[in-house]
Amino acid sequence: MLIKNISVPIFTGKHNQIQKNTHNQTPINQGLTQDIVTFKGRNNLSAEEKYQRALDIVDCFSKDQIQNMDDFDQKHLDGIQYGLKSFENLSFPQIYFILSNMGEITIPVVRDCSGMCPACYVNGRPKERNKDAISRMDFEDFKNLTNDIKEITHRLNFNCVEKSTQKSIQNTYGTGYYTLPSSALFYDSDGKDVWLQDEKGTIHEFPELNKMLYDATGLKGLFDTAGWSPKNSVVQKRIENIVKYYSNPEHEKEIDQINISVNTYHGIMQKANEYKNKGDIESYNRMKKAYINNIVNAMYTCTPLVEKDCYQILIKAVDDRQGEGFKDYNKDAIFNLIKEIISTLHIRYMSDIENNNYKYAKTEEDVINLVSKHIKKFSPLITSLSPSTRDNIFATIDDDYDYIKDQKNVSYDDVTKQKLSSILIDVNGKVYLQNDHEVFKTDICLNFKNKDKEAKQIYPLPDKRTINTKEKIFN
Ligand code: SF4
Repeated sequence: MLIKNISVPIFTGKHNQIQKNTHNQTPINQGLTQDIVTFKGRNNLSAEEKYQRALDIVDCFSKDQIQNMDDFDQKHLDGIQYGLKSFENLSFPQIYFILSNMGEITIPVVRDCSGMCPACYVNGRPKERNKDAISRMDFEDFKNLTNDIKEITHRLNFNCVEKSTQKSIQNTYGTGYYTLPSSALFYDSDGKDVWLQDEKGTIHEFPELNKMLYDATGLKGLFDTAGWSPKNSVVQKRIENIVKYYSNPEHEKEIDQINISVNTYHGIMQKANEYKNKGDIESYNRMKKAYINNIVNAMYTCTPLVEKDCYQILIKAVDDRQGEGFKDYNKDAIFNLIKEIISTLHIRYMSDIENNNYKYAKTEEDVINLVSKHIKKFSPLITSLSPSTRDNIFATIDDDYDYIKDQKNVSYDDVTKQKLSSILIDVNGKVYLQNDHEVFKTDICLNFKNKDKEAKQIYPLPDKRTINTKEKIFN
């Protein structure tokens, strides 16, 4: 076992410098002969020396022998990140903090949403015009990050992400919050808007970005959409390509869920209900029809996935205890909406047959079969909502995150062990720890091109304290 550079003889003395022979301009080292040799350890190793030392330490162990990164004195692994652009200026404990909390990882490459759902717990909102805050990640930053995660896993000869996902499963198993590890390229945005453009102007779409993250972490991706207007040909084409890609059995392993989210409080439905309550039934019907058409178009577009495990339709509504004020958004409202969605989907497939388009169905029986398959994909009703920050009817909603309300002064350990805790990396490289409805700042910012730029405000508003990842305390 060879460990280089732990205690290296060094030369001391003011003559230990390269000097020039002024006669023939040949460099000579006059100092060497007068120097005193000491065997004191050097504290100020160069970056390359630290890197070599870290590799040598890792090389002492086979893959099976390392059960945990805590088996190492982490300060001696500092330097293993040498040359990895996005980890530049971070300490190894900071990098390890990221890698070891990836039971779930959220890297929202875009942070704009046009959904305007008033009960959106992350307050998804459209692009803020005339503001300096950035809302889309730089492609090179994303590429560097995924490459760097892959490379550091290789250098460590240890899959931190895999260990962290096992921990996440163990911690949540049996709690009722059991979660399978996954990754998301969105946070307060819709999957339909996930893409990045590189310096040459090439657009990189969801499947490619998701594959990059999958290759780096082994985590399957999530894709959620709340629907889109069929008239939007760019988005329509984008989703058709995504559906085609994941219909291929070879790519199934890269994706965990493709979800269509149907809820009574989508921004369009909220507007429709406002019209209804003012007695403007014509406008109510027009808005409701627009929403139903968007959802039906999304379901129709996902037809090739209808038998795949990854495809799901999430249905959400306000729970009954919220009272009369929320009757437009409750269980009855969502079930009525779903009935209209199903009958419109049936009409959509039937109109194909009438127009001699036999892409998905040839007979009415085929249509009924297809519609039934979609119906089987409806999730159980989700009623766990929380108010967004918008000043509207939903601002008074009674949310049910008691475990958070009861833990206002959580400790560092509570946070890192909290159910569903996961890393969130913002578009400017700032790293947060978030769980179900809580966000904590950390002292980590990746070395992104945009690290000095402001990003859109994160919601829920982060805890006032910052996690000091090295000391494992709050600052
Ligand atoms: S719930 Fe989804 S679609 Fe609605 S505003 Fe939030 S992020 Fe956007």
